[in-house]
Amino acid sequence: MEKGFCSFCGRALIPLEGYAELKDGGKACSHCVRKLRVMYPLKPFWDNNGMKRAEDPIEKLGSDEFAKCLEDVIEGTEGLRLRYGRHNAVFRVEEVKTEKKELLKPPTYYASGMVIYGCFDPEDRVSLVRKEGKTEFSLSDVRESSPFMLDTVTVEGKGGEPCILVFSGKAIACGPGDLIVRD
Ligand SMILES: [Zn+2]
Repeated sequence: MEKGFCSFCGRALIPLEGYAELKDGGKACSHCVRKLRVMYPLKPFWDNNGMKRAEDPIEKLGSDEFAKCLEDVIEGTEGLRLRYGRHNAVFRVEEVKTEKKELLKPPTYYASGMVIYGCFDPEDRVSLVRKEGKTEFSLSDVRESSPFMLDTVTVEGKGGEPCILVFSGKAIACGPGDLIVRD
């Protein structure tokens, strides 16, 4: 069942895919929203019931602003690339949980945070960038962001969206504020 059409590309709006209602009543489909997400990241917060939710700054835009941003998004992403040293994709770590299942195997790390730009997929070769140097490893999974962390579905980690990067290795020192990058 569709709910009208995207004000920007004309695609049918499908509630299951999600769409944004703008300040002035304009509607943007999930494809157009994803294009802008890198410039307008979701802002996670905890509500009064202790649930993690996300505020969407895109819903505060008017249709004119949205259309203008769609034109500017390539330039905007290029600005982010320059700021973060031209990596293909950059993820900022907010919290890390470590899981040690078997004594002789390296622990598994669940780094939750935000994709600043670019995208991350399972099996991507990435580097953890810290003052002390770079550590390379492969991702074993990219999961949907969730406060429970350990039991969520695999997603594409896309610019401006929160997600969880999963990886394992011997004593990977990874903490809040660290960047994980893909080249
Ligand atoms: Zn659209």
